[in-house]
Formats: sequence, structure tokens, C-alpha cells
Amino acid sequence: MQQDREMKELPYKIFLEEKELPCAWYNLRADMPVKPAPLLNPATGEPVTSQELEKVFCSEGVRQELDDEHPWIPIPEPVRDFYRVYRPSPLVHAEFLEKLLDTPARIFYKFEGNNTSGSHKLNSAAAQAYFVKAQGLKGVTTETGAGQWGTALSMACAFFGLECKVYMVKVSYEQKPFRREVMRTYGAEVTPSPSETTQVGRKILAEFPGTGGSLGCAISEAAEAAVTRPGYRYVLGSALNQVMLHQSIIGLETKAALDKYGITPDVIIGCAGGGSNLGGLIAPFAGAKLRGEADYRMIAVEPVSCPSFTRGRFAYDYCDTGRICPLAKMYTLGSSFMPAPEHAGGLRYHGMSPVLSQLYHDHVIEARTVRQTEVFAAARDFARVEGILPAPESSHAIRAAMDEALECRKTGRRETIVFGLTGTGYFDMKAYERFNNGEMQDLPLSDEVLTESLNRLPRF
Ligand SMILES: *Cc1c(COP(=O)(O)O)cnc(C)c1O
Repeated sequence: MQQDREMKELPYKIFLEEKELPCAWYNLRADMPVKPAPLLNPATGEPVTSQELEKVFCSEGVRQELDDEHPWIPIPEPVRDFYRVYRPSPLVHAEFLEKLLDTPARIFYKFEGNNTSGSHKLNSAAAQAYFVKAQGLKGVTTETGAGQWGTALSMACAFFGLECKVYMVKVSYEQKPFRREVMRTYGAEVTPSPSETTQVGRKILAEFPGTGGSLGCAISEAAEAAVTRPGYRYVLGSALNQVMLHQSIIGLETKAALDKYGITPDVIIGCAGGGSNLGGLIAPFAGAKLRGEADYRMIAVEPVSCPSFTRGRFAYDYCDTGRICPLAKMYTLGSSFMPAPEHAGGLRYHGMSPVLSQLYHDHVIEARTVRQTEVFAAARDFARVEGILPAPESSHAIRAAMDEALECRKTGRRETIVFGLTGTGYFDMKAYERFNNGEMQDLPLSDEVLTESLNRLPRF
């Protein structure tokens, strides 16, 4: 009875009010008993200093990157103003998915796809663009693979009045002309990578004429372009500590929405590419767990084709293929790892957030892999009942949440499951087409390929 009443009062979408938009980001590192290992300078093997990092990143970005101490970092008012354009984002009670699965579990998802970039990435793009602008700088450079990050950054730069130079992996540039045009509409200059515009690009083109490029190569070009242009800084869409910090807004809003209805989650699930969306979603919950105030299961979901947590090694590695950026201690498949052409482009990164890596190493969070055919089956089922066409990346979390709910059907447990729906999949129709035609294949990773890549890890 009590439960029925509670269910009735629970709306389908829980919206926070505008004034409930968080005023500060939460820095989970402050509550970690074992801090993530420091970034190392690839030339010296010593921890990087803020002076070294400031050549690449803006000053506030560097401060946030190195801050293991302060739990709360105020969100500047201009960033909150921009957040108000598309936040607070709804926490949806997935009633129709529950019915479909005939499960006693309750399922909620935090929907981050309600902006033109189509993903959570705008949360950090806004913050990074603002801090670069506030420092009086002129512009930023970045790389983009599938295009979500480049789009988000273009939007943020348009809003704050910054120049934006995007190096887009050449195959994506050619295959996803609409993504490119969205970025150009927002004022970004988009260059297919590798290009003739950088030294590293010319070198790669000379060595591999006609190559379609890779994310690692685009990162190297973007980083070179930033340090060689006066007034420019380089920005990154995931993996870094500062990105996870900005993404904590997802978890803070989620917790506030659940608290409104007295709901305590049992399991929190998110897909993991570089780890920033999952890290942001779980941040306040993981903090409570680390402080011994509550207990939650937290699950990272990754593709079988790029299993950083579940088959990678916890070691120092390069963050980029060009080996320009600092080394991070993280779960990694090796910076020379070339993932199979998995459709979830945002999950094809060889490494993982150092924060999440430490938490996984310390058994605070769990991880599992899923195959892309079962991921797209989950995406289809979800789209049909919940009305949103999910991004392939997000659908990894949907798959795991559905599996968890189906397990509850077997055991009769009435778990509360929360997952992150990071974005929409309108630019991924080629992938959906392959799935609908029955042409999609799973892309398992062989031990040989993995071992060869891990053997090339640097020794630090
Ligand atoms: C980039 C992206 C991801 C991966 O996010 P990380 O924070 O790097 O783990 C997931 N979903 C969507 C829609 C994305 O665009």
C-alpha cells in the first residue's frame, strides 16, 4: 500500500527547478582515501608541474586538474547561465521499460541528450570554454572522432565568443558531413586529420599517404596547433580530472531529484569511454560510499572491442598516440591500441579516467563488457517504449540496466536501478541501418592483439 501510493505520486519525469541547479561541482578526489597517481612528464618521468601544464591548458583548468583537496568548486555564474539553457536535465522513471521487462525493479535514467550536441559533453565544453575566455585568451583547439565533442565545444565557443579549431578524424569528416556542418554553423573551423596544417600531420601523411586518420593522430595535431598559436589552448572532452569534475553536475542533479522523492538507488550504471560521464553520475554516490555513509553498487559498461577496465592493465601510459600529452596511471589497453570499428565511437578510447581507474582498482566500482549486437537490441527495445532514440554509447548502459532488471525478475528483488542516458543517436543511423539489416557483427578482441599492445606499454 505504502509503496503503491509512493509509486502513484512519482511523476514520469522528475524535473528540478531552475533555482535548484547546483552552485558548485563536486570533486570526488577530495574524499578518496587513495588519490589517483600524479600525471607524469613524458620527457622526465617526474610529476608534471602546473607551469608545464599551463602551456597546454588554461590556468583554471590546470588548477582543477591538480586539485585533490577541495570537495566543492563553485560553478561561475556565466557557466550556470549557459547551463540554464538546457539544464537541469530530467530524471525519467522508465515505467514503460519496466512494464516491457515485467520486472519488480524500478528503473530511472538521467537524460543528457536534450541539447544540439546530443550528449553530456556540453557540460564540460561550457566550463572549459568559459575558463579560457575568462583568462583573456583567443581560442581553443581540439580533436573529435564521432563528432559529439567537437559539436559541444563549438556550441560553447559560440556562446562565450571564442575561436574554435577542430581536428576531425578524416574518415568521420567524410562519413559524417552533417556533424561537420553543425560545427561550422556554430562557427568552428573543421579540418580533416591528418592535415597539411601541422608538422605532425605532414609527417603522418608522408608516411601513410591516403590514411583515414585516427583519434590519436587528431589529438597530436590539435595539441601542436594549440602550443604553436598565440592565445590558444587545447581542450579535451573526457578522461581528464577536470572533465569529470564538470560532469559531476549530472550526479548532483540526479541525487537531488531522487532525494525529492525519498528514493535510494541500489545500482548506478553508466557507459565508460574516457569515464567522465560515469564519473560525474556516480560522484556524489561514490563520495558517500567512501565516507562510509551509504553503500551503492556502481557499474561501468564498456564494449567487448575496447575493454579498458576488464582486460586492460593498471599502469602508466601515454594519453595520446603522438605521446605529447602527460602520462597517466590508468587502466589501459596501450596507447598503440587500435580498436575495431565499433559503432559506439565515443567508447573507443584506449585509456580510462585515472580517478575511475583508482576506484576500480580499490573495488569501489565494478565493470562489465557488452557486445554491440545486444547493445543495439537494447537500444531498439528502449526506443520503442521510452520514445528516445539512444546513442550507441548510451545504449551500453541501457543494456546493462535491462540485464540487471531481468535478473530482478528472476530473483524477485525490488532493486532501484539508475542509469545515465548520455545522448541521442540521430547521427548514428548508419549503425542502426546495419543493425536493422541484420548485418551488424560483434567485434571481440583477441588475446594476441591485446598482448602485443600491452607489451608496448612504457616503463615508468
Ligand atoms: C562521448 C560519449 C560517451 C563517452 O563518455 P565518457 O565520458 O568519455 O565515458 C558516451 N555517450 C555519448 C553519447 C558520448 O557522446
